[in-house]
Amino acid sequence: MKLTLLGTGTSQGVPVIGCDCEACISADPRDNRLRSSALLSDGNTNIIIDAGPDFRQQMLRARIRHVNGILLTHEHNDHVIGLDDVRPFNFRTGHPMTVYALPRVAEQVRRRFEYIFGEPTPGAPRIELVPLDKDTPINMDGIKIQPIGIMHGRLPILGFRFGNLTYLTDVKTVPESEKSKIAGTKYLITSALHQREHPVHMNLEEALAFIAEMAPTRAWITHISHQMGLAREMETQLPPGVSLAYDGLEIEF
Ligand SMILES: [Zn+2]
Ligand SMILES: [Zn+2]
Ligand SMILES: [Zn+2]
Repeated sequence: MKLTLLGTGTSQGVPVIGCDCEACISADPRDNRLRSSALLSDGNTNIIIDAGPDFRQQMLRARIRHVNGILLTHEHNDHVIGLDDVRPFNFRTGHPMTVYALPRVAEQVRRRFEYIFGEPTPGAPRIELVPLDKDTPINMDGIKIQPIGIMHGRLPILGFRFGNLTYLTDVKTVPESEKSKIAGTKYLITSALHQREHPVHMNLEEALAFIAEMAPTRAWITHISHQMGLAREMETQLPPGVSLAYDGLEIEF
């Protein structure tokens, strides 16, 4: 299997509109971050995690021609607002896109995209919402997916484990009871916003402590703000086996 990071930025992306900080004006492509999303692929199966405002660009950039299903971590706009752009997949297949989400998240998607779920409109996207819960693993076209219940401040959201790899984003804390689902993971992708504390996101220090506790072989940090620092400089400041993720990063596992 392969995980491709389609976006590694926080909700505003990097660069931020109108910002002239060193990350926002950096010429290093690693400092250019679309909103956080990932592609899990295995042979002909493509599973997308989150569909934020850059979904269309991410599908084009990674040349994704079909999607078996979309997993949503939570309902914040930077993770769902691109769902309208499933239309080309609907038109190609003639089928609705299957989107897996917590019941609360599914309800928010129904509200935010009322036109999709109301009276059928010609040309509107077609989405089939399938409820997920943190304790029921699912199987999508032969790929086993273990949801993990994590906390985004006070909001319970989902991370996912696929075999040896765990993908978490927008995490602030991980309940002790859920850590057994992550234990033994070889590859861990987890989020850190920047260096300062934040009420609903881990900062770098918290993420590094969490990575040290889980002790994966390799770890990458995602959902990064322009205030984290330059990719080139951060490289030298992270412990062995830990890196900042960047858009386009591919992890074979
Ligand atoms: Zn987010
Ligand atoms: Zn900036
Ligand atoms: Zn969020």
